[in-house]
Amino acid sequence: MANIDYKALSELLFPDVTRTPEDLEIQFPLRNLPEGAAVTRFAPSPTGFIHFGNLFAVITAERLAHQSGGVFYLRIEDTDAKREVPGAVETVIELLEQFGIRFDEGAVLDGDVGDYGPYRQRSRVDIYHVIAKHLVAEGHAYPCFCTEEDLSRIRAQQEAEKATTGYYGKWAICRDLPLEEIKVQLDAQKPYVLRFRSTGSIENKVFHRDLVKGELQLTENDIDHVLLKSDGIPTYHFAHVVDDHFMRTTHVVRGDEWLSTLPFHLQVFDTLKWRRPKYLHISPLMKKDGDSKRKLSKRKDPESSLSYYREAGYPVQAVYEYVLNTLNSNYEQWRQANPTAPPTDFKFSVKKMSSSGALFDIDKLRDISKNVVAAMDAETVHRHLSEWAKDYAPELYRFITENREEAIAALSIGRGGKKPRKDAVVWSDFKTLMSFFCDEQFRPEYEYPEHMGKEEIIRILTEYSDMYDPNDDNTVWFGKVRELASQHGYCPDMKTYRQDPSCYKGHVGDVSMVLRVAVCGCQQTPDLCEMMRVMGPEMVHNRISAAIDHLRGENK
Ligand code: GLU
Repeated sequence: MANIDYKALSELLFPDVTRTPEDLEIQFPLRNLPEGAAVTRFAPSPTGFIHFGNLFAVITAERLAHQSGGVFYLRIEDTDAKREVPGAVETVIELLEQFGIRFDEGAVLDGDVGDYGPYRQRSRVDIYHVIAKHLVAEGHAYPCFCTEEDLSRIRAQQEAEKATTGYYGKWAICRDLPLEEIKVQLDAQKPYVLRFRSTGSIENKVFHRDLVKGELQLTENDIDHVLLKSDGIPTYHFAHVVDDHFMRTTHVVRGDEWLSTLPFHLQVFDTLKWRRPKYLHISPLMKKDGDSKRKLSKRKDPESSLSYYREAGYPVQAVYEYVLNTLNSNYEQWRQANPTAPPTDFKFSVKKMSSSGALFDIDKLRDISKNVVAAMDAETVHRHLSEWAKDYAPELYRFITENREEAIAALSIGRGGKKPRKDAVVWSDFKTLMSFFCDEQFRPEYEYPEHMGKEEIIRILTEYSDMYDPNDDNTVWFGKVRELASQHGYCPDMKTYRQDPSCYKGHVGDVSMVLRVAVCGCQQTPDLCEMMRVMGPEMVHNRISAAIDHLRGENK
């Protein structure tokens, strides 16, 4: 280290900074939380895009905090203005809210909530400068006036000498500039960055126990990384250390792309004599691609975006449970034993997390979603379906909100009981069900059993129309269909039919299929008797007449 007056240098660089790290320690005191309470955060850059993989880190962090009586907060990492998309902060906040993620403090739609803010990094510049000034005064940071050209020249020389590239050791030419020289550069208004003066060596190892990756031996950092860019805005590395220290984060949950620079982060914590947080580095979400695996890609895979799941109509709870299930493999067993408990009752454990990347499994998500929807009562389905349809299916939204009672009655069909219906995975699957009850959306496909003649079908429908009584209960209803079947030479029960099919024209199922196709316009529907009950006599009669007209029309 050159023999220069670092204190004087710090005053020269930061004449307006009057506060000290101690002042900040007082302003942001240790949090008054119960022993073992975790303070975690989600710290997205405002690009407007949230990768589905982020949700794994978000839910891990959220569970750690809320399960321990701690704090989960949202910090906006907006130091890179180039990547910022207008409205992105709002998108992030709203999207996470839609996925049931609750922050205790941090950035909110109209500002910040909490005592540890500001929670947007560009509003924290004065805080970074206090620490930067302190690092300079202690000889741990220095201004670097190298231009892009200087850096390229250094790199070219390093390549020629087969040396490792980077700004370090003898290559770090601004490291020991005399104070006088620095003054000259500053007076000439030359732009500069502030660099960390690394005392590390690649010969040394840093020990790190990651809560997900396990025990790691990493190479010590010897690079004089940039702390403040030439506009005074910090790099991610510096902001991370300062923010997570003063926001009193206990656990940093983030993508494992940051593992390579972790030695530098640890070095800055140590240099400042700050306690290192615990880290959980999460591997990227993988996807099967033929026989191999690759990262779920923003460019190639629409399902890489969190917003995709909302648009596609996956219930929030299904997505949440899918993530928990993937993070902790014992979740599934717990869910079976506790079918109605809220997912937050599950004891999430970091120890159960796998250190390698989870494989994205849409079938699993669909399976979970099917069960989540099946477990909801009709009112709940109606509520969620309306929320979704409002944005993505306006016609459906209008129908189910204008005909609320009827929609709920329709949604009740086959719901509850020991064997609830499991034919809906996403909200859009209810479009078909609802179209049965909505004349405007009714698009019948009259496909009757092939072996039945048109005249016979017309007779069956006409007779049924006369015998149909909306007050019949299920038993009477089915009794009438059987009777009708018998009258037309169709076996009234399947067992007898199977014993000697040749004695009959067909079976009761053929007759109920005729009714189903006429009334619902398709061959697959929930319980027909229930469907008719919800439709009511007027609709049933109209549908049957329309079906007969259609058959007659075809006969001409
Ligand atoms: N802004 C960083 C990112 O989006 C956050 C990493 C972290 O959580 O520290 O990758």
